[in-house]
Amino acid sequence: MTEKLYEEDGRLATFEAVVRQVAVADGKTAVMLDRTAFFPTGGGQACDTGRINGVRVTAVEEIDGEIFHYTESEPDFAVGDAVTGQIDYEQRFARMQAHSGEHIVSGVAHNLFGAENVGFHMDGLLMTVDFDLPLTDADMARIEEKANEAVYADVPVHAERYSGAALAAISYRSKKEFEGDVRIVTVEGVDRCACCAPHVARTGEIGLIKILSRISHRGGVRITLIAGREAFRDYRDKYRQTLHIAGLLAAKHGETDLAVESLIAQNKELKNAVYAQKKRFCAAVVARQEFHAGNAVVFADGCDMDELCEISLGMLKKCGGVSVACAGNDADGYAYVITCRGVVMNQYAKQINGALNGRGGGRDEMIRGSFRASKDEISRFFETFEVDRP
Ligand SMILES: [Zn+2]
Repeated sequence: MTEKLYEEDGRLATFEAVVRQVAVADGKTAVMLDRTAFFPTGGGQACDTGRINGVRVTAVEEIDGEIFHYTESEPDFAVGDAVTGQIDYEQRFARMQAHSGEHIVSGVAHNLFGAENVGFHMDGLLMTVDFDLPLTDADMARIEEKANEAVYADVPVHAERYSGAALAAISYRSKKEFEGDVRIVTVEGVDRCACCAPHVARTGEIGLIKILSRISHRGGVRITLIAGREAFRDYRDKYRQTLHIAGLLAAKHGETDLAVESLIAQNKELKNAVYAQKKRFCAAVVARQEFHAGNAVVFADGCDMDELCEISLGMLKKCGGVSVACAGNDADGYAYVITCRGVVMNQYAKQINGALNGRGGGRDEMIRGSFRASKDEISRFFETFEVDRP
């Protein structure tokens, strides 16, 4: 079996090893070494990538205690050769920061509230944890604060293997009946949990733990969190955004939210004012019209659909037939709204659209859409168009 160097030292990035086997199967080349710092997938953490003697390692897998390093190309080294392995350490360190941060949060939630971590997932460096208790936002704030205090305390993180009676004698989070020996990761004074993944050596390396969200989930909660460099990047990016927004709103530092609230209120006032203006404008358009014994067709260029509705409805009082309001031009066509009191206009939509190369419809007394026809064609069509009155 491969000696797992990553279990002893998560910071080991470069190592010497001897090639034990090079196998090609299904077009993939797998390299087995006598020892490795490459972590295979496990405990929610993705596998390492890196190089062996310069050959790119794209995936790593553990099968029955043996570590398989899958390489991008066929290597030029052979069984018995001494090689140098190198993992992509920046990626590994970020994952260790994140994963160790998760252990601390889970440990603190357990210590403070007796909550059990019943689900853990890492999507890149974004983590989700499911707890079995309906923890509140205030609870999460306490957990987050305590977790960060554990970072400031810079306590050691270490892993030991236990089995048999020794395993049965110790207490650790989410204790299950494991067979054989179990690797227990301890964050001193904070958490103890069975885990196979590499972790930071001291909590101070994590830097920052941030819980991003909390939602109800299966009687408990699901939180998302980040830690380490990813949390710093998130803070940097969000602060940059906040500064940009504050600059745009000429808001004082720390009052960006108030400035946004005020902007939304102003926007609402403006919308109301515009709405009132539109109503006055439409009423003026209708007032200018003469009474039409038959259908009324009003062309109101520049009007939007809301205004066409307003005008069409307003014209019902000034005509004996259907009321048509249009906006547009002969080149691009016309938007239309057609209403008729007491008549389900949609039953005529096909006929009208067919005659004026249009599309659209509606229900009850109003239909809306567009015509690909000229002003004259529209006017002429509605001179003779008739609906059946109930
Ligand atoms: Zn773990």
